[in-house]
Amino acid sequence: MTDAPSKVNLLGLSPSQLEQFFDEMGEKRFRATQVLKWMHQYGASSFDEMTNISKALRAKLAEMADIREPEIVLEKFSKDGTRKWVIRMDGGSAIEMVLIPEGDRATLCVSSQVGCSLDCSFCSTGKQGFNRDLSTAEIIGQLRVAIRSFGPFDPNGDRRVTNVVFMGMGEPLLNFDNVLAATQLMMDDNAYGLSKRRVTVSTSGVVPALDKLCNVSDVSLAVSLHAPNDALRDQLVPINRRYPIAELLAACNRYLDSLNDKRSITIEYTLMAGVNDQPEHARELVKVLRKVPCKLNLIPFNPFPNSGYERPSEKAIAAFKQIMLNSNIITTVRRTRGDDVDAACGQLVGQVADRTRRSQKYIAVVQEEPVQGKSQTL
Ligand code: SAH
Ligand code: SF4
Repeated sequence: MTDAPSKVNLLGLSPSQLEQFFDEMGEKRFRATQVLKWMHQYGASSFDEMTNISKALRAKLAEMADIREPEIVLEKFSKDGTRKWVIRMDGGSAIEMVLIPEGDRATLCVSSQVGCSLDCSFCSTGKQGFNRDLSTAEIIGQLRVAIRSFGPFDPNGDRRVTNVVFMGMGEPLLNFDNVLAATQLMMDDNAYGLSKRRVTVSTSGVVPALDKLCNVSDVSLAVSLHAPNDALRDQLVPINRRYPIAELLAACNRYLDSLNDKRSITIEYTLMAGVNDQPEHARELVKVLRKVPCKLNLIPFNPFPNSGYERPSEKAIAAFKQIMLNSNIITTVRRTRGDDVDAACGQLVGQVADRTRRSQKYIAVVQEEPVQGKSQTL
């Protein structure tokens, strides 16, 4: 372990960065493709496994570089197929990760930062404050852990993770370069080869970063709106005070225009009882959503201690959804399986870290998870 930190972790280099790496070593660029495939398609963790690379080059690589993956602290597989992990990163910080199967899809929710600086009022990650950005290798490491949980990598087998969403801890657009490189690897045919429609960056609305993304990526986008007007959004999502709704939606449209296919934005809307879940909010939201091609994903608030918010009743959720559907807005409700799965934002880590009785209860729930309440939509 002594010299490890000074070595380059090749897991974190985008395809073009890896080409540059070999260039600078005086090696041919096609080596980058070979190494990419070994690492990301065959799951190699050492250069010794790379049999189409000469022994001399493997030795040289081992001197300069390594392939380092984060360590699994906790791994839970529940009966309905949901998998969850707590993963320790370099320096000891932990992040959470969830894989949710749904028919022939399996969606992995990854983190981009430890903590978050944006302090949305209903988010437990925000409450923890900002610790640090994750490196590209740490983000890609999350995907590797999830794929490997199904057994050794098999490049010819079925895809084990079909979708990735950046909806774990952190604001991905505030860790721009590392998230960009990670998404490039996820979508590269020599690496994970996921469809650009199935890799989704979720943002609370960092408008300048969204504009920067236009020129360099065609990843899919989810935007966390949570309120139909600026007065309310200012309170829930403080970054709205800098980039209000109209500016955010204009940036969304610029992003969609920059893509060379027809796509829409996923609008996320966390429903909180008595705060943003009333029929008048729904009606106001309809008007706002007319301004951008989008689908709406309603997320019933996921409670955590001292949050000050509550999840709305099923009746209120259904009524809100119906108003949207009546206005022809494609709307889904994100369902948790039991109450534990939607550890979307720092909750799993919080519970493990504080080792309270609640965390014991949590672990029990994961193991005994009931098969009811599974449907993704209402
Ligand atoms: N920072 C990014 C991505 C991570 S948060 C963003 O804000 O979009 C992923 C999603 O989970 C966001 O829509 C966020 O608002 C939502 N979320 C956060 N805390 C939640 C909670 N307690 N209950 C339900 N959804 C929550
Ligand atoms: Fe950060 Fe997203 Fe949580 Fe807001 S909702 S504090 S942007 S992680």
